[in-house]
Amino acid sequence: MIAHPGSEVRVLIRSRPTANFAQELIEYLPDGQTVSVHQRKDSRKGVVNNQLSSWSFRLDGVLHDVSQEEVYGRVGRGVVLGALEGYNGTVMCFGQTGAGKTYTMTGATENYKQRGIIPRALQEVFHEVEQRSDHAFSVHLSFLEIYNETLVDLLASVRGCPGVGPGGMAVVEEAGGGVSVRGLSLHPVHSEEAALNLLFEGEMNRIIGAHALNKNSSRSHCILTVHIESRSRTLSDAKYVTSKLNLVDLAGSERLGKTGSEGQVLKEAMYINKSLSFLEQAILALADRRRDHVPFRQTKLTHALKDSLGGNCNTVLVANIYGEASQIEETLSTLRFASRMKCVQMDPVVNEHTDPVLQVRKLEKEIQLLKQELSIHNTLANRMGMSYDTLSETQVAEIQSQVRRYLEGSLDEINIVSIRQIQEVFAQFKQAVQQQEQKVKAQLCQNYTLVEKAQSTAGSTAAKGSQGTVGVVEGHGFGVGLAVPSDRHIRLLSPGRTKAIKTKELASQGRKEAVEGRSPGPGKQVESVNPVQRDREGREHDPQSQEPQGPQEPLRTDSPPPKAEAFEDFKAERGSEINRILKENKVVLLERRARLRELTECVNTAKREIDSTSTALHQWRDKRQSQGQFVSAEGIPVLDEAELSLTLRLRELKTQYRQQYEELRGTKAEVSYCQHLVDQCRTRLLTEFESWYNESFLLPEEVQAMLRSGGPIRPGLVPVYKALALEEDEQEHFERLRYELLADSPSAISFYNAQNRTVQRRNYSKAMSQTPVQKTTPRGSGRTKLPAILSVI
Ligand code: ADP
Ligand code: MG
Repeated sequence: MIAHPGSEVRVLIRSRPTANFAQELIEYLPDGQTVSVHQRKDSRKGVVNNQLSSWSFRLDGVLHDVSQEEVYGRVGRGVVLGALEGYNGTVMCFGQTGAGKTYTMTGATENYKQRGIIPRALQEVFHEVEQRSDHAFSVHLSFLEIYNETLVDLLASVRGCPGVGPGGMAVVEEAGGGVSVRGLSLHPVHSEEAALNLLFEGEMNRIIGAHALNKNSSRSHCILTVHIESRSRTLSDAKYVTSKLNLVDLAGSERLGKTGSEGQVLKEAMYINKSLSFLEQAILALADRRRDHVPFRQTKLTHALKDSLGGNCNTVLVANIYGEASQIEETLSTLRFASRMKCVQMDPVVNEHTDPVLQVRKLEKEIQLLKQELSIHNTLANRMGMSYDTLSETQVAEIQSQVRRYLEGSLDEINIVSIRQIQEVFAQFKQAVQQQEQKVKAQLCQNYTLVEKAQSTAGSTAAKGSQGTVGVVEGHGFGVGLAVPSDRHIRLLSPGRTKAIKTKELASQGRKEAVEGRSPGPGKQVESVNPVQRDREGREHDPQSQEPQGPQEPLRTDSPPPKAEAFEDFKAERGSEINRILKENKVVLLERRARLRELTECVNTAKREIDSTSTALHQWRDKRQSQGQFVSAEGIPVLDEAELSLTLRLRELKTQYRQQYEELRGTKAEVSYCQHLVDQCRTRLLTEFESWYNESFLLPEEVQAMLRSGGPIRPGLVPVYKALALEEDEQEHFERLRYELLADSPSAISFYNAQNRTVQRRNYSKAMSQTPVQKTTPRGSGRTKLPAILSVI
């Protein structure tokens, strides 16, 4: 019987037959699972509370007057069969000396019928190995004794045993959470008989050791482990399973220290007490699901059993009791240990491994098979000479040439023949895009230079001197300009630009609006300082633009109005409706967010209260459980007042928590919906503004061309609206988000470049679809102009 995930450790009681069975004190209930212990009221002080008259322990079974065969059937068989499937398993006997632990585990060696769980388990293992001919099993045995925290190999005397290495024996942790005992001999066994020989040899060594050291064999713990490995013979599978079946005879649990023992006996008692009480601690920690640390390493016993107590293996405990009246305290103590063990959860897992060598072999075979399959398909589809190996250099070069020709237009399509070829085609496309980007970037750098404020000022002054069009730059921060080597001249200004320029920009805007039949906005009626001529298509020509300029002397001409100001105007006029909706949505969003914060706090407070109440309840139950279950005189389990009030409180808190949590979820959805609305409004406002701005004011033709070709642009050319989008409230904080923001954080450039490209392309295609386009200008000017966009030249 293999435990289901989440089930508890199986615990059974076995009572040793005795002529003086204390019938009036120990009662086995007819359900076959419950033991009641009645304590006389005048019992010794401290042992029982006089208020409590009886204790009831409900476990998985009571084995009273039961044959060895039945004991094996109910205790051992399931664990043994589980081990053959790959689950670790442990059968463990606990109880006072003389209660029948060794009888249960090993049995009477001289009597076949009375043999115990170990010989029966070994018999079953080999019987199953023979039956399961579809699997190849390998079985090894080890036999470990732990006496006074010393590890002893009970099979060290077996011929051919390698002996203990220089480090001595020690429990060591293995990768994957398991443990093993370094220095403990592992003996391959192929038959039941060979296994029994090893068992008897170990038992003999235990007795001899006991005599030699003058110790009682019931003062040591003994662990016989059957190591099983199984591989399927039918599936050529690289997977195999392993398991450990631990059969444990623990030292007597009686508390010798109390009886005034001394010398060796006292020392033994101390070690036993220590190891058994740590065993108990480890079990309590395992039972408490809130604890993630279990103190296995405190004694050799718990450390050696680390991967065999609860957790991912099948564990069964037999609590042996000696049902005489004089032993009633030890019996109670054993039953309490048993009921604590019952709380440990098991989650058995098969120990599956993969043999890497076999795995590689298997995969190679599979590849071979698939290749054959492919070649059949190719033959059927009349595709000859297909190869699925890694591409050769020549093949890569051919694909590269195909991609190049495809991009140039001299090749219409690239035939898809295999996955490897598709991957290579994409790789070549990627490479081409990267190269193109580099090229455009290099071109830009060649044509334009970043001018810092000081230079820009000097340049402006020079420009003013030479052309009389630009005032003195009086702003702060960076003035980002483009020094134009020839007839190309573009300039973007920081918000602190010259008054003269502002006047010019507004004049330019006024002109544009006049051309398009719109009246200029309020306060925008300005005089044109540098008149612009228009041709019939509405394009503009600046006579001065034909004059060559020195690279360090940017030509100052008309500029569009700063976007910050234009944006304010836009919001007040054309974009006023959407701006109003945006503001309203923001107010709702803020209000919903505040409610969400409030609710989150409430839910967290409720959760904390649930945790603390639940901890208090667990502590209370742990405390009570360690004393067994209190039942009334009628045998009905009684819930005390404190536990009842904690349970009720917990229920009430959970209801409250659920209600608040529901509301929290609703509000969260509302917040995300409102956020979505706000984002939508903001995007619309900014996109509309951007379109309006582009329609109304010209972006330099080179930049447009660059954007269309997908090339990156310089930091100084990042549109203002992106900076606006970054700011929570674009109205108040615009002044702070200027071009220098980007100069300070160059890493943001790629991001803005990418976004800018997308928006500009969209605007461009919009403009193209709305207005007829004249793609080329007359020879000599070498420029492409977009209609409906006012030139800054
Ligand atoms: P422990 O190992 O717990 O110290 P043992 O297994 O050595 O106890 O048992 C003590 C004695 O009681 C032994 O002589 C054993 O044969 C006998 N005994 C224990 N349990 C039984 C049982 N269920 N039936 C018959 N004899 C038993
Ligand atoms: Mg014993």
